[in-house]
Amino acid sequence: MEVDVLILGRGIAGAVLAECCRARGLSVHVFDHKRPGNATMAAGGAVNPVVLRRDTPCWRASGLMPAASSFYRAWDARAGNSSWKDCTLIKVFGNPKEAVQWEQASAKPEGAPFLISRTEPEIDQGPFRAPHGYGTVVQAGRLDIPALLAAQREELLRGNALTECEVQPHEVRSGPGCVRVGAAKGKWLVRCTGPFLEGPGLSLVKGETLTVRIPGLQLSGMVHGAIGILPAGNDLFRVGATFKWTNVWEGPTEAAQAWMLARLAELVEAPVEFVETHAGVRPAARDRKPVLGITGEREAVLNGLGARGVMQAPWCAMHLLDHLIDGKPLDSEVDCRRFA
Ligand SMILES: Cc1cc2nc3c(=O)[nH]c(=O)nc-3n(C[C@H](O)[C@H](O)[C@H](O)COP(=O)(O)OP(=O)(O)OC[C@H]3O[C@@H](n4cnc5c(N)ncnc54)[C@H](O)[C@@H]3O)c2cc1C
Repeated sequence: MEVDVLILGRGIAGAVLAECCRARGLSVHVFDHKRPGNATMAAGGAVNPVVLRRDTPCWRASGLMPAASSFYRAWDARAGNSSWKDCTLIKVFGNPKEAVQWEQASAKPEGAPFLISRTEPEIDQGPFRAPHGYGTVVQAGRLDIPALLAAQREELLRGNALTECEVQPHEVRSGPGCVRVGAAKGKWLVRCTGPFLEGPGLSLVKGETLTVRIPGLQLSGMVHGAIGILPAGNDLFRVGATFKWTNVWEGPTEAAQAWMLARLAELVEAPVEFVETHAGVRPAARDRKPVLGITGEREAVLNGLGARGVMQAPWCAMHLLDHLIDGKPLDSEVDCRRFA
């Protein structure tokens, strides 16, 4: 089997890269084995262009956010999925100082396109506790990651373009003009191995989320107060997340579950049924920017998506292909060689 691009890892990075290759007419073969701790299966799918601690747009939000929404919409339209939804994120202020910070940030030119103050009936008439008020982040979205990845899996399997196995280091052999993974041969191998990346630059951050049932709660978008909550359909909601920099591979813990349920009780005054817990490891770069570029003979990397994988993956995948296939220069801010 001979293809243009071999992809190692099919979390959100590898999945998006595979779809970008398809859109450019490049053939792919993807290898993936779901290791415990992989990031994408723990992610809620929130797409938030704002750093809520400071009420400032996150890195390159004004370019990355439109790139992400148009990419996922186009993918949905092509494949007949409905995984992407434009929605708002309502920030519930924890104290009066946060309300003042919001007012100041939303008056600045960089904040104004994302931050607005308006009445939100779902907060005012729902069971949310918001004594200090709230603000609305517009240009946000959410992605049904499990549905999108499941649909892509079927499509790749039908096209004989996916092998679900653990790839051992000795199976990868690169040489002039081509690279091989087992019997598969490609012009490029892109490693999208998330927190399992071997090499410098990553600073791993464990995270946990919960799925809970809150019967009757009406919520069309996302809410973030003491904790974040987003609708997952059928009275189910995703709640989270935690951030932990030590013992990142330990898996779900009762302490994190109890902490998230306590924060949820601060935000929502309604009976909550625990459904399940999810744990994963965010592949964050030391400088919190993506990690892209050529790492060896016919080998490249797409990683460092950190806590914003859904928003960053489309721009990163397109930028990496521009570099690998068309020879365009790589943006120095994301170049993997900064950690060499
Ligand atoms: C709790 C939590 C909540 C989050 N919530 C959000 C959110 O709401 N919105 C958002 O945008 N981001 C969120 N994130 C961040 C997001 O999950 C990551 O940015 C993203 O998933 C990283 O994707 P990835 O493809 O780089 O890595 P991964 O998802 O880890 O994918 C790497 C894949 O490669 C496979 N692999 C590695 N080595 C091999 C090998 N040798 N052979 C075969 N397969 C291999 C792994 O098993 C895995 O399947 C969250 C993260 C966590 C932990």
